[in-house]
Amino acid sequence: MLRNDVVILGAGPAGAIAALNLAASRQVLLVDRRVAPIQRIGESLPPAARRLLVDMGLWDAFLGQGHAMCHGNCSLWSGIAAERNFLTDPDGQGWHLDRARFESWLRGEAVNRGAALLTAGTVLSVTAIDEGWQLSLDTPAGKCALQARTLIDASGRAATLARILGARRRRHDKLVCVWLYGSDQNTLRDSRSYVEAAEHGWWYTASLPEQRRVLAFHTDSDLPVARALRSPGSLLEVAMNVTGLAAQLKSAGFVADAEIAFTAAHSATLEPVAGDRWCAAGDAAISFDPLSSQGLFNAMYTGLAAAEACDRRLSGDVAAFDEYIRGLRRIETAYFGHLDFWYGQETRWQESAFWHRRQHAGTNASVALAN
Ligand SMILES: Cc1cc2nc3c(=O)[nH]c(=O)nc-3n(C[C@H](O)[C@H](O)[C@H](O)COP(=O)(O)OP(=O)(O)OC[C@H]3O[C@@H](n4cnc5c(N)ncnc54)[C@H](O)[C@@H]3O)c2cc1C
Repeated sequence: MLRNDVVILGAGPAGAIAALNLAASRQVLLVDRRVAPIQRIGESLPPAARRLLVDMGLWDAFLGQGHAMCHGNCSLWSGIAAERNFLTDPDGQGWHLDRARFESWLRGEAVNRGAALLTAGTVLSVTAIDEGWQLSLDTPAGKCALQARTLIDASGRAATLARILGARRRRHDKLVCVWLYGSDQNTLRDSRSYVEAAEHGWWYTASLPEQRRVLAFHTDSDLPVARALRSPGSLLEVAMNVTGLAAQLKSAGFVADAEIAFTAAHSATLEPVAGDRWCAAGDAAISFDPLSSQGLFNAMYTGLAAAEACDRRLSGDVAAFDEYIRGLRRIETAYFGHLDFWYGQETRWQESAFWHRRQHAGTNASVALAN
């Protein structure tokens, strides 16, 4: 039977980064249900990500990937127009990624450093055995059994492995995102991200590599607007009536040219985030509201931290995962504090269910829903 030191479920940013950090010294198997990453929303990488990429020896290769630089953020929030220019950031500019290219590259780096990659596969069952786990995987060649001394769940919002192991995922709100891709016809590119609050949610637009642009609206899944905006025509029509946003789209010469897409975007936490010989990283451990723009950074950071915790546990340190749990709790506390602060700043629509929920319960205090 195939024996691994670490099996990682999910080869997104968190899983690939955990794999590439473990591969030099441990036998690692990275499993993903997709043969190749798909293009999807989630492209803003903050300047601080540079530090992680430098530490992992990935910075020069990252620069060669052709992602678009992002020189700042603009917002119209609480009726106040504001701008943050990354020229004053000690880490330099941020990035607007070609998301599929970024993920393919990270997968490739993990394989180059010695990790084995299995696609399109998933886990069917997990059983605790002496010194680790026995897994049954579903693979293109059929079912296969293998053993692992430790496990990392990096399967994103699904948290598939953690749930099999009995962990509970808790949703803290009902946020969803409706988005649309298109092209920027104006060759003079505005590299900044743009966020604008509206009565039933908030808008986002950003330029992408190769003269592309994304337009997105975030609201709660149970509000009428969530259904009403699920056609390209109506999303664009409403966007063109939102003061600041319309100016951004017009100045970019935005022309929508893709199908509308819809995805969950709520905050969620996992309880517990680790146990004896396993841990969750990235969105599987804690999923961020896109307003924070911190999901990718968190996936990279916790992917690295999960790799370190596994390595220590494999070397006999039984406290490794307890420390990992404490680190995740600190991230959670800081995240919900910031989120409640920013939603609390927007007080123009007291009658709107979207804002009322966030201002009166707070995102963290709201009733947690079993997911
Ligand atoms: C609308 C929206 C906008 C966002 N915008 C931004 C942004 O601008 N900036 C930012 O930093 N973050 C953003 N995020 C968050 C960011 O996309 C996530 O935090 C990030 O993708 C988390 O990475 P991950 O590796 O943990 O999970 P994922 O990227 O979800 O990767 C999980 C991987 O696991 C695989 N997988 C899932 N289930 C299984 C299974 N059962 N078996 C095998 N494989 C499986 C998937 O195929 C995937 O490859 C946004 C999120 C949303 C919803």
